[in-house]
Amino acid sequence: MTSTKKTPAQPRQRRGLLDVLLALSLLYGVYAKTPLGAVGETLINVARGQKDHPSWLASFGGRETSVAGRPTTSSTTPQHTQAPMPTELANSAAKHKVDADMLAALIGERGGCFSAGCSLRAPDALRTYAPDAPVDSGGNVPLDQVAMAMAKAQVAVGGGPLAAERALEALFIGDAAVTRAVSLARSSGSALAEDVDAHADYLTPSVRRGALQGALPVLYAHRLRTLAWPAEGTWRISSPFGERIHPVTGERKHHNGTDVAVPVGTPLVASHHGTVKRSSEDSISGTYLVLSLGLGIEVTYCHLSQAEVRSGEAVGRAQRIALSGATGRITGPHLHYILRLHGDAVDAEQYGESPTRNADAPMPLAPAGGTPSPG
Ligand SMILES: [Zn+2]
Repeated sequence: MTSTKKTPAQPRQRRGLLDVLLALSLLYGVYAKTPLGAVGETLINVARGQKDHPSWLASFGGRETSVAGRPTTSSTTPQHTQAPMPTELANSAAKHKVDADMLAALIGERGGCFSAGCSLRAPDALRTYAPDAPVDSGGNVPLDQVAMAMAKAQVAVGGGPLAAERALEALFIGDAAVTRAVSLARSSGSALAEDVDAHADYLTPSVRRGALQGALPVLYAHRLRTLAWPAEGTWRISSPFGERIHPVTGERKHHNGTDVAVPVGTPLVASHHGTVKRSSEDSISGTYLVLSLGLGIEVTYCHLSQAEVRSGEAVGRAQRIALSGATGRITGPHLHYILRLHGDAVDAEQYGESPTRNADAPMPLAPAGGTPSPG
């Protein structure tokens, strides 16, 4: 008697579970794939007081708050680095008139230079620009074909600001997607629409989560390779990054920046294109500026006599942004310059155009001792 009652109940329970799963996936579909989800997200952003969210019509489907994760490391290389530029690479870049540092960043991320020459794993959309490029069984193409494709992509995305960055993006996602996203970002009032950080929200979710992810580590490496030094001219480093005895308090402590001994009134420049995250002052840092350079890169300039840019303003690479000074807690005039990668301060002297950098040493892409993980 009891057994005959139980048997028909089991398939009904199973169907109930199936219904719940179907309803949940339908709800997720509405949220992720229709403008209704974007309306909800926009309302949440507005409620949080976030003013710079993209217009909901252009961005529906977007869920990520940031396009880039931390730089990835493989288990075999404890410290992810970018190698110095080999001659073959510099020659190829010159021959095709493309940004040598971008080509080097690409090789560094996806290939290498061996006795047989330089080659790399082909980016997703490379075939659009180099249909005849030979690809070996491992998906590798010779460097010269990549440089040629990069030159064609650069023509396709048009010149203007950040042409090399947009050409690199095009090698992964095609120039049509890049151009469309840039124009949508521009029409919604983005200050630096050409920057991937500003226009990634306007790519389709499948492109943003898919092919674009291959381009981001290359763009990140390129920005670090080409960081401008904050003070023009040659100035003494009065205190390097790392452990030291503090000149004022006498305590042994970690110095989170590099002190450049510039006299008061020396013009200081933006290390790369980006936006002014903060322009402020306090008793320790004096007048200071924080610039967000995108993709997790941030720089801070302390002890200024005058900041010449305001919060939220877009700045270009090497653009003058401040005059150095002697404000805050100091023993003499200097610039305290901090470079942060994904929140961790690193030694700025090891990056980009630092006058004290050893150009033959590999450039670390992740903070020393940090535990970067794939994002
Ligand atoms: Zn300092």
